[in-house]
Amino acid sequence: MAGSSEVLTLGVDLGGTKIETALVDAAGRIVASQRRPTQPEKGPDAVIADIVACVETCLGEAGKATQSLGVGVAGQLDRTGTLRFSPNLGWRNVSLKVKLEDALDILVVIDNDVRAATRGEWRHGAGQGVNDLVCLFVGTGIGGGVVSGGRILEGCSNTAGELGHMTIVADGRRCHCPNRGCLEAYAGGWAIAERAQEAVGADLQAGQRLVALAGDIKQISAATVSQACSDGDPLARHLVEETAQYLAAGVVGIINAFNPCLLVLGGGVIQGRPEYVSEVERVVRENALQAAVQGLRIVMAALGDKAGVIGAAALARDKIGKAA
Ligand SMILES: [Zn+2]
Repeated sequence: MAGSSEVLTLGVDLGGTKIETALVDAAGRIVASQRRPTQPEKGPDAVIADIVACVETCLGEAGKATQSLGVGVAGQLDRTGTLRFSPNLGWRNVSLKVKLEDALDILVVIDNDVRAATRGEWRHGAGQGVNDLVCLFVGTGIGGGVVSGGRILEGCSNTAGELGHMTIVADGRRCHCPNRGCLEAYAGGWAIAERAQEAVGADLQAGQRLVALAGDIKQISAATVSQACSDGDPLARHLVEETAQYLAAGVVGIINAFNPCLLVLGGGVIQGRPEYVSEVERVVRENALQAAVQGLRIVMAALGDKAGVIGAAALARDKIGKAA
C-alpha cells in the first residue's frame, strides 16, 4: 500500500444556502473542491443530484477515485443517516445516507454540520492532537461539539453538543427553540441583530450610526454592529461588550461541565471580532471552577468556513477508512 496519506476521502457540507464539496487528503488538505447553491425547495432528489454532480467534478478534476464520502448536514440526524428534521432545508425524514450511497455507489457516513466542523478543527485545525476539547461556533445561530476522551459526544438520541441552547437567563429572551433565555437568544447573530434593533428603537439618537450603516432599523445585523463598533460608535461598543458577557456566561458553564483542555471559538461573529476570545477568557478564568481552568487554553478556530467540509472528509476517514 502506498501509505494512508495517498488515500483521499470526500467531504460534503450541505447547508441551507450552499453545497460545499471537497476531495481531501489525510493531512486535511483540499485537493479539489466544488460549490453550488442549495435549492432545497426542489426537494431532496434534486439536491442529491447536485451533490453527485459536485462529487463527480471533484473526482474528475483531481483524476482520483475514492470509496468514502462524509456529509455534514444542517439538521437532526438519527444514527442510520436519516435526516429527521432540517429547519434550514425544510425537510423531514430523508434517508440521506441510503440515497447518496445508491446514487454514488460508495460508502457514505453522515453527521450534523456543526459536529462535522468540530471534527475538522479537532483533526486538522486548532484542536489537532487534543483529546478533550469543545468547539463553540457563533454564527447566525450557535452550535458546538464536544470531544471527550478522544470521542465526539453523541448523546442518547444523537443530539449532544447543542451548546447554543443552554439557558443563561431564566425566563429571558425568546429563542428559536421552545425555550427562553438560551445563549443563542443573546449572542447568536440573529439575536445580536434583534438586540441592536431594540436598542436603536429605544434611543434613535444613540442609534444614528447603526441606522446610517444599515439603511434602516430592520436591516441592522450583527455585521452592522461589528462595523459600527470598529468605527467607535458607543451604542455598538456597548452591544459588543454585552454580547461578550453573555458568551462568557455560557462558556463558564461549558468549561465547568466538560473540563476541556482546549476551547475553540469559531463562526462569523467571533471571527469578525477576535476580542471576544480574550474577553471570554478573562471572565472564564475568574468565574469557572479553578480546577476546571487549570489546564485550559482558549483559541480561535483555524479552518474558517472550510471546517465543515474538511471535517466531513475526516468523518469518512475515521468511520469508513478504517473499515475499508
Ligand atoms: Zn434555544
